[in-house]
Order: sequence, then structure tokens, then C-alpha cells
Amino acid sequence: MSRHRTPSSVTRRGALVVGAAWVVGAFAASSGVSGRWSRGAPVTAAPPEALVSAQAPPTPVGPAPSTAGADPSPTSATTAATFDRSAHSTSEAASPWVVVNKQHPIVPSDYEPAQVVRVAGELVSAAAAPDLEALLAHSRDDGVALTLVSGFRTFDYQEQVHRRSVARNGQAGADRYSARAGHSEHQTGLAVDFSSADGRATLSPRFGQTDEGLWLAEHAGEHGWLLRYTETDQAVTGYNPEPWHFRWVGAELVAAMVAAGTPTLEQFFGVSGGPDYA
Ligand SMILES: [Zn+2]
Repeated sequence: MSRHRTPSSVTRRGALVVGAAWVVGAFAASSGVSGRWSRGAPVTAAPPEALVSAQAPPTPVGPAPSTAGADPSPTSATTAATFDRSAHSTSEAASPWVVVNKQHPIVPSDYEPAQVVRVAGELVSAAAAPDLEALLAHSRDDGVALTLVSGFRTFDYQEQVHRRSVARNGQAGADRYSARAGHSEHQTGLAVDFSSADGRATLSPRFGQTDEGLWLAEHAGEHGWLLRYTETDQAVTGYNPEPWHFRWVGAELVAAMVAAGTPTLEQFFGVSGGPDYA
């Protein structure tokens, strides 16, 4: 799609910057929104730990990536002006645009999607499945070997995940990279965690530098999947960066977010977020 720029010479490192700049650069071009959160605030790195199922290791926070380049195109600016931000609910759990974070739990807390289907071994909401299938097909066409390592999780399963994390890291450490039950996007069935077929960087910050992570950063938005927890937006999302975690919102919304220069759902919809639980 036209909003994605392809550099004339792409190194692995360069591709990462381009992929990040696609969102970050567009955000930097915006005005009036960025001041609402203290972006780039220092975040204390959690202690190292071994990888455990369905949760992320702590991430040392490095310098923010360059915000040069990737200005929104005139076409995408038009999209931003005409986009109907009230077309779907941001509070109903079944809505494709639901905002789930530490300030906004899933309601009801034991919500489950009406229909889940299995895609590449993981359960996802039926609403998100076609775009996930399309993304995976596109990646295969490009010779990228993506796998899924997590999809829909029940409240009870998330509770187990978070409890294990607290036992290892304490509450404060766990809350940086694991949602409390009832606060996980995975419970909506609209979020997945990707990995590479060789599994060498599963749920690791290193995934962002793998061919698979780089491909996702560049192409997931074309299929409606949003990189949800970025390096530069930790103060807004309340989580350490997770280059493997993507949230389905639909390609129209991703395009509108890029056009508006707002890389997070919280900023685009004016919904509160951040590191503190309500
Ligand atoms: Zn995830």
C-alpha cells in the first residue's frame, strides 16, 4: 500500500528504522496530542529472568529511535480528516476498536469472544481471523517464516500467567510486561504474539531485529494489525516494548492512525492509559 515506503537499499538495521519510522515519524509530525503524555520518560529495567510461557522478558530501555522521515502523505491526511472515530465502540469488549489497558479493564471481566477460530495453532476471535490469515499468507509469499505463540486467553489463564510473573519479579516488575487478569488484550481474542519458525527470539526484545520482526513492523498494518507496545510509547501504553505483540483493529484504523500521527489507540481515541492501574 502506498503509505509504506520502501527504501532503495535496505539493511536489516535500516529496515527496522523504516518500519518504526512509519509509525513514529508520523506521530512526530502531529501536534496537540503528544503533550498529553510524558513521552520518553525513563523506565527502570526489570531484573533479567528466564523466558516463561506467554509473557515477555524485561527490556532495558534504550534511546528512542529516530523520528526522521515518513511524513504522512496528502492522501493519508485526507483520510484522517474524514475518518469517523465513532464508527465502533472503544469500550465494548467485542468491538474491533476496544481499548484495553491498565485504566480500562475488559467488561465484563470474564468476557470471552462469541466465536473463536484456530489460526496457525492459536485461537483468535473470528472477526480477526481473515486479516490474520492474509497477513500470514503475505509473509509466506515474502519468504518470512512467522508463527503464532499466543492468541486468545481466558481470564483464568491470564491470571495464572500474571501470578507466575509476580512470583518471579514482584508486582511492580510483573506489571511492566504482563497484564493483570481482565486487563489483557489477549482476552478479547483480538491480539496475538508472533514468533519466528526457528523460535530463536520468542517473546524476546531481540525479535524486533529478526527478519520476522522487521517484516511485521513494516507490513502488519497493511492487514489491520497494530504494533501495540512500542519503545517510544511506554508512558502511554504502560508496558515495556513488545515487538511480537500485535492487535487487530482493521486496516482502515491503522491507516487513519498513521495519517493522524498517533501510534497508540489511547492517543487516537483520547482514552487514558499509562503504567498505573485504575
Ligand atoms: Zn501478547
